[in-house]
Amino acid sequence: MSTLSPRQQELLSFAKTVRGFMPDDEGLALFEAGREACRRFPGGALLEVGAWCGKSGVYLGASCEGSQSILFSLDHHRGSEENQVGWEHHDDDLVDPVDNRLNTLPHWQRSVADAGLEESVVGLVGHSHIVARHWTTPLSLLFIDGGHGEEPAWADFRGWTPHVKVGGLLAIHDVFENPADGGRPPFDIYCAAVESGLFVDVSQQGSLRVLERTSPTN
Ligand code: MG
Repeated sequence: MSTLSPRQQELLSFAKTVRGFMPDDEGLALFEAGREACRRFPGGALLEVGAWCGKSGVYLGASCEGSQSILFSLDHHRGSEENQVGWEHHDDDLVDPVDNRLNTLPHWQRSVADAGLEESVVGLVGHSHIVARHWTTPLSLLFIDGGHGEEPAWADFRGWTPHVKVGGLLAIHDVFENPADGGRPPFDIYCAAVESGLFVDVSQQGSLRVLERTSPTN
């Protein structure tokens, strides 16, 4: 890892403390991918699908430090299927007592504010496929970590990957080659990205895959 500013070191330490599902080594790999995207496209736009409580947002926000780049952090903040009551990744204290629905937005806001990243991490609250339909800004980095079911994963792939610039990066989380380690959809969209001829592998850390867009069309 090349030299980090004291501010970036502080943000990376803080990211470890934020609630979420990303191990630190994968968070650091995501940070490095973000830094590379900011280096290639100064002042560019990064976007993550799946913000949860802001952990990956802090890693990517840290990568934007010192550049003019911005991270858009998109989530409906109602949790994915696997976060609902009775599922493995459910957390009772993320439930809004007013309507008994998950609401991670206040936690996301708290993380971004505590990190001091409110000027470089911009929240988008809504459904990914709806926002994607209206999106026009080319992306220097796209990070897909939204719903892990068949339908949301493919919608994220189809809706967002066309916006990645040539030379830009595509990161996908929870890519497990072995079905015993995790669900199929993230692995399937990773394979689709490679098979499209538009993206090539750059690096892997745990279940995080980073690819680069090398071609404008297939
Ligand atoms: Mg994930």
